Amino acid sequence: MIDLRSDTVTTPTQAMREFMMAAEVGDDVFNEDPTVNQLQEMIAEMTGKERAIFVPSGTQGNQVAVNAHTRPGQEIICDYNSHIFNYESGSAAMLSGAQLHPILGQNGHPRAEQIAEVIRPLDDHYPQTGLICLENTHNRAGGTIFPLAEIKKISALAEKHKLPLHLDGARLWNASVASNISIAEWTQHVDSVSLCFSKGLGAPVGSIVAGAGAFIDRVHFYRKAYGGGMRQVGILAAACIFAVENHFDRLQEDHENARLLGTILNDFKGINVIMPNVQTNIVIADVSKTGRSAVELADLLYQAGLASIPFGRYKIRFVTHMLIKRDHIIQCKDIIKKVIV
Ligand SMILES: *Cc1c(COP(=O)(O)O)cnc(C)c1O
Repeated sequence: MIDLRSDTVTTPTQAMREFMMAAEVGDDVFNEDPTVNQLQEMIAEMTGKERAIFVPSGTQGNQVAVNAHTRPGQEIICDYNSHIFNYESGSAAMLSGAQLHPILGQNGHPRAEQIAEVIRPLDDHYPQTGLICLENTHNRAGGTIFPLAEIKKISALAEKHKLPLHLDGARLWNASVASNISIAEWTQHVDSVSLCFSKGLGAPVGSIVAGAGAFIDRVHFYRKAYGGGMRQVGILAAACIFAVENHFDRLQEDHENARLLGTILNDFKGINVIMPNVQTNIVIADVSKTGRSAVELADLLYQAGLASIPFGRYKIRFVTHMLIKRDHIIQCKDIIKKVIV
């Protein structure tokens, strides 16, 4: 089976397992795990933020940040297709008492003027705007990269309105490699960022939130409240350190494989991939002209040996990752041929 469902399906390599086994550990709820501390310092430096805090998942990372930035009843401006709005189980409402204000950005990326339009004026009738959230790369839009110039404009707007700006950077690694813009160059324009180690970087578990010291103190409280206080977790932090040191630069290979897959898919009648949107490791194929729904087609592909994920009625998502080599992508051509004539 060629598994292109997600870049979360990777398993730790032998070298990563050995590195994990050798990790020094301590009780991280007491801030005494040296490997967790090492990872947090490494990411604080990489993102140019005062501090960083290790969390079990990207969802928890975003949600502890949301709670630390907002008060109940406040509104969060985000993209209509964002992870925070669509894939986090409604937890901003459930756990922070926040209301989301989604707007439809371009390829997942709201423009500064769109955000300016929905920032609430001070009036007792309105909810108060409490936070702006961006996503880079954008998952549902197909791994698209946020235009840096636009982030700068949004950052200036947020500052003018004294609003915190959070970046869901689950795949900021991919954005950085593909754009040749360092992590710090991206994150200098936001107040806080969450990053995942368990996507393209290939660690089994782990995410991190970075920001100012006082903000991280509040996040530390919510992390405990949300059940994210972990003990000798350096064994996992070691996997994350290993992932950043060994699997960051190689993301380029996943991006090349995604472009190759996009080109292969486009050669089939009825399938359409918008190639300029294949900017990182995600390929979204519109299958509406094949006469089959995304679910039907994904099912047939699965039976033929290629796993993918239906994204809405007529779109299928394919994600390249560490376990996928160029040869696998070339094999995809023969598999798709069996399904689409
Ligand atoms: C995967 C992902 C997350 C976090 O997901 P978890 O499964 O909770 O780790 C957050 N944002 C984006 C854009 C993602 O793709």
